[in-house]
Amino acid sequence: MVVGLGRFGSAVCETLVRQGVEVLAIDVDNDRVQKYADEFTHTVRADATDGEAMRQLGVPDLTKAVVAIGSDIEASVLSVITLSEAGLDTIYAKAITRKHGKILRTIGASHVIYPEFVMGQRVAHMVTGGLSDYLEFEDEFAIARSYAPAETWDRPLSESAIRTRHTITVVGVKRPGQPFTYAVPETIIHQGDELVLSGRIPDVERFTTLAA
Ligand code: ADP
Repeated sequence: MVVGLGRFGSAVCETLVRQGVEVLAIDVDNDRVQKYADEFTHTVRADATDGEAMRQLGVPDLTKAVVAIGSDIEASVLSVITLSEAGLDTIYAKAITRKHGKILRTIGASHVIYPEFVMGQRVAHMVTGGLSDYLEFEDEFAIARSYAPAETWDRPLSESAIRTRHTITVVGVKRPGQPFTYAVPETIIHQGDELVLSGRIPDVERFTTLAA
């Protein structure tokens, strides 16, 4: 179930439908429901804070829910409580602030997502490090996409010894106009190649500034 068909919720639904997942999409706003009625599997006008309505929709039999309400914190909190009380264990909830996220966690959300905060972090890394993409995980680990720095050009990866010198692992390489390939020790890097790198955040940041 996806609660709330704003920009975030509709993007979640769109991707799930593309993956072949059966989705029950709900929103209190009739216009939003109408907008997506033809696109998503089941689209219903309903209030996620209404326990009786949720039971009638079969919420206790669902496996997972995404509560994609951002700006209305009261509705977001009450929706998570209602779905949790209806017996759902796996609830992904969108939060707009750390405090909002903390409340959601306490009342039954199994996963809290901070889309704006995470995207802001990514853009900051892209801007400062010359990265074309950046993804941060827990425990100080990140994956980034960046141009290959000059010290790696025209030699195999084994020779640049990136892992020992920079504590970075090169996962994939992309030559302009070609798809990504897995990086192996024999892969020769050229000027203009893009790399997918993984490692600890400070190491990734340091390495990618060499290419900026
Ligand atoms: P976004 O920033 O992703 O567009 P919004 O917070 O603007 O997200 O949108 C949230 C959506 O959730 C709105 O379409 C709103 O009508 C819907 N919504 C709000 N409260 C409820 C509720 N109690 N039950 C179901 N849908 C709700």
